[in-house]
Amino acid sequence: VKAHGRNDLCFFDPQMQATINARAQLERDLHAALKNNEFELYYQPQYTLQGQVVGAEVLIRWHHPERGMVSPIEFISVAEESELIMHIGQWVLRTACEQLAAWRTQPAASALQLSVNLSARQLQQREIVAQVLSILEETGAPTHLLKLELTESTVLVNVDESIAKMGQLKAQGVHFSVDDFGTGHSSLAYLTQLPLDQLKIDQSFVRNIGLKPTDGVIVQTIIGMARNLGLEVIAEGVETQLQQEFLAEHGCTLYQGYLFCKPVPLTAFTTLLAQTQQP
Ligand code: C2E
Ligand code: CA
Ligand code: CA
Ligand code: CA
Repeated sequence: VKAHGRNDLCFFDPQMQATINARAQLERDLHAALKNNEFELYYQPQYTLQGQVVGAEVLIRWHHPERGMVSPIEFISVAEESELIMHIGQWVLRTACEQLAAWRTQPAASALQLSVNLSARQLQQREIVAQVLSILEETGAPTHLLKLELTESTVLVNVDESIAKMGQLKAQGVHFSVDDFGTGHSSLAYLTQLPLDQLKIDQSFVRNIGLKPTDGVIVQTIIGMARNLGLEVIAEGVETQLQQEFLAEHGCTLYQGYLFCKPVPLTAFTTLLAQTQQP
């Protein structure tokens, strides 16, 4: 009993207090970031085997006034613990859709799809369907050019609700991709029930191609599964020629990774488009 009493005192651990303070500061900074326009979208192109650009994943970047560039790995998880993720998520969606609308009249860009990451909390929101549809309508973005990336765990928070919401968006033309595919430890039965368009092979498997035979098997299996389900399959985190060749050999059709291009600001992406073939 005494020992327990002593453990309770770790509440006053100065290290822990510092962590709590830092987190609170990060939250305050994120609120300010939204107000002061400190976020930017980067674009990472997605390629066919023939080297054509068919779209891009949009990835958020934060230019912190004092700390410089802060990685989404650091701040998205913090944002996800509060309502902040809704606001950041909306900003990302709106900005991506504005870009899709702006590209409508540009031949080199008018068929590009943009993949937008959606957090679990966003999908769980009751008004998410109405929100996405109103952003599409207000911006004038072609609905079929928007692709939402969801992880398996995001979908599985409430499968029935996810299926219903995705179905409503799908009915309006929105596309869906399962991000980080293969890392979730879920039954695959639900896969056939979701209105999906694409599986995205997680970069952890791609990284181990040629290094860890079992991961090669997983990659092959995912590609085969996608094909059998009539889904598109894209590999992310492709960094080497060897990885790309392995993926191509086994039937992967779309590629994203540093081997082709890292995520870049809009201006650089536009320049790249002008120099690259479109399908
Ligand atoms: P993710 O959705 O799995 O995104 C892929 C990450 O891999 C990105 O990191 C990208 O820059 C990086 N990457 C791309 N190609 C390569 C490669 O060849 N090698 C390696 N090692 N990495 C590569 P980033 O941009 O730092 O984003 C990290 C994570 O933050 C994302 O992982 C996603 O979960 C989250 N995130 C980023 N932007 C958003 C957003 O707008 N909304 C939400 N909800 N989450 C976001
Ligand atoms: Ca993603
Ligand atoms: Ca991913
Ligand atoms: Ca990830």
